[in-house]
Amino acid sequence: MDNLPTAALRVNGTRLWQSLMDLAKIGATPKGGVKRLTLTDLDKEGRDLVVQWGQQAGLTITIDQIGNVFMRRAGRNPALPPIMSGSHVDTQPTGGRFDGTYGVLAALEVVRTLNDHQIVTEAPIEVAFWTNEEGSRFVPVMMGSGVFCGAFSLEHAYAAKDVEGKTVAQELERIGYIGTEVPGQHPIGAYFEAHIEQGPVLEDADKTIGVVPAVMGLAWYDCVVSGMEAHAGPTPMPLRKDALQVATTIMQEVVAIANRYPPYGRGTVGFVQVFPNSRNVIPGKVSFSIDLRNVNEPLLNQMHDEITSFVARRASDTALAITLERVSYYPPCPFHPDCVDAVRKATDLLGYSNMDVVSGAGHDAIYAARVAPAGMIFVPCKDGISHNEIEDAKPEHLAAGCNVLLHAMLAHAKVVVA
Ligand SMILES: [Zn+2]
Repeated sequence: MDNLPTAALRVNGTRLWQSLMDLAKIGATPKGGVKRLTLTDLDKEGRDLVVQWGQQAGLTITIDQIGNVFMRRAGRNPALPPIMSGSHVDTQPTGGRFDGTYGVLAALEVVRTLNDHQIVTEAPIEVAFWTNEEGSRFVPVMMGSGVFCGAFSLEHAYAAKDVEGKTVAQELERIGYIGTEVPGQHPIGAYFEAHIEQGPVLEDADKTIGVVPAVMGLAWYDCVVSGMEAHAGPTPMPLRKDALQVATTIMQEVVAIANRYPPYGRGTVGFVQVFPNSRNVIPGKVSFSIDLRNVNEPLLNQMHDEITSFVARRASDTALAITLERVSYYPPCPFHPDCVDAVRKATDLLGYSNMDVVSGAGHDAIYAARVAPAGMIFVPCKDGISHNEIEDAKPEHLAAGCNVLLHAMLAHAKVVVA
């Protein structure tokens, strides 16, 4: 890919933007967003449009049993596993026009560009979209990619019900996207996903491309501090068992711990319940959530140890009962050095301003990374806002991310020089 013609290849940003706008019409909301919940009639319409575009681009379509769709552009060597890129076409109930669809249509634009220039690659190229990334209608989230990589079973996913009691299996069948391929029985040579950042870092730093080395891991806890309710007036300070007073010291420590692990430590208390929550009663019980994140698993484990020992110390110092339970855990997902490197090199080749941005949100690429080398490309979104109808991104940033995707994929798929 070092010869001049390949290095000079660029995607058609106008065509990419037009496709994004055309897909955004399906489920368009009055506020300028998109509501296209997974496995609804609108999702079918969106899927059908993307598949139709794939067929027009000469791609071969395969659908697996969880409704993941793979659209293949042949390579010179059909025995090689495909270099794949994609994301999702389902949205949140008040979703935007770019979350997920950008990754799918950027991959399609890569194919269209290769077609325009009659480029032959050694390995096949595939455009993928995964079922139910958003997890809004059916849980678990990132369902299609999760089944694909074996994070949970097909049966578990099929049995998931929406609020009306309809199952994933029924709805997949109904919209005609229950395929025959066994999920996971589809080799991948490498996986790239382009996505809007969904955070404010790139815009704040005025950079065009985010090179994503990893996705943060997270640990969720429930903490309960039990003291004793008593009258706020007659009870002298030394004789109190004030659960809130003790809880706030733990809450402060959550933030302090995160601050001791820059730049990727995160510590948040986002949910608090105080009992009895009355102005003149010393709080008898406080329940609250703790969310700790880091991109490095040993550091995340250290953060876990620090909050655990702090809570134990507070319990022995204050003689109040304090429980701390870890209720959820996902390890950090480092992306493959080859893929991260391919993104970085493509960005440098194209001359775009860039920085490393660790993803704080989940993506299908996390599950793809369990079965293949994977990497991600971020582009800025307006004010860092996503999962919102006002979600917005600039055409030039979307085109830039797509150019990076093109060159990162070509570095893996290898252009056949005629
Ligand atoms: Zn997404």
